[in-house]
Amino acid sequence: MRLILMGAPGAGKGTQAARLVEKLGIPHLSTGDMLRAEVASGSEIGRKARELMDHGKLVPDGVLVAMIAKRIGESDCSKGFILDGFPRTVAQADGLGAMLAEKGLALDGVFLLDVDEEALLARVQGRADQERAAGRSARADDTPEKLKTRLGVFQQQTQPLIAYYEKKGLLKRVDGMQPIDKVTELLENALKPKAA
Ligand code: AMP
Repeated sequence: MRLILMGAPGAGKGTQAARLVEKLGIPHLSTGDMLRAEVASGSEIGRKARELMDHGKLVPDGVLVAMIAKRIGESDCSKGFILDGFPRTVAQADGLGAMLAEKGLALDGVFLLDVDEEALLARVQGRADQERAAGRSARADDTPEKLKTRLGVFQQQTQPLIAYYEKKGLLKRVDGMQPIDKVTELLENALKPKAA
């Protein structure tokens, strides 16, 4: 099963993806996590991405499309994957569509976690506080100012993907304002094939 989890920063994509991994037995591909690993390893990609990420801006499409093309070609993705944080632009969505078509594959669904802006701010703040309380440093982009930039980027560059996937009949909206367990239940229900 090949799925995309879409939503603004703080919508709960990572949390829900981790739960779906257990249920579906397919890997969770978070481009944010992949890029943070590149930064931590000091690779060339990481060095180029760091500044953009710290400022809440997008890393160039070509870097992301190449990264995902390589990752989905690995053996653990043969039964499918859950994409979290990718695609974030129409160019990335086109790139994904082309790489899947080349393999004779298609997406099974795109889930949009709908959460209002005020709740996003509170969640991102909560995530940063939790990291600090655990003695770890919070993400440089989990501050109210950076979140504002990230939300602006989401609205301008990622929201067009809602209509993009709606047109393809793949988009399913899920109420991300519900408690975590309820959102998981809504996602699981949305995954079930509809009775004929
Ligand atoms: P995330 O953990 O998904 O919030 O991503 C953190 C940061 O990584 C983003 O603000 C971007 O700077 C970068 N990033 C992650 N995924 C992508 C993507 N698909 N396209 C461009 N930049 C990305």
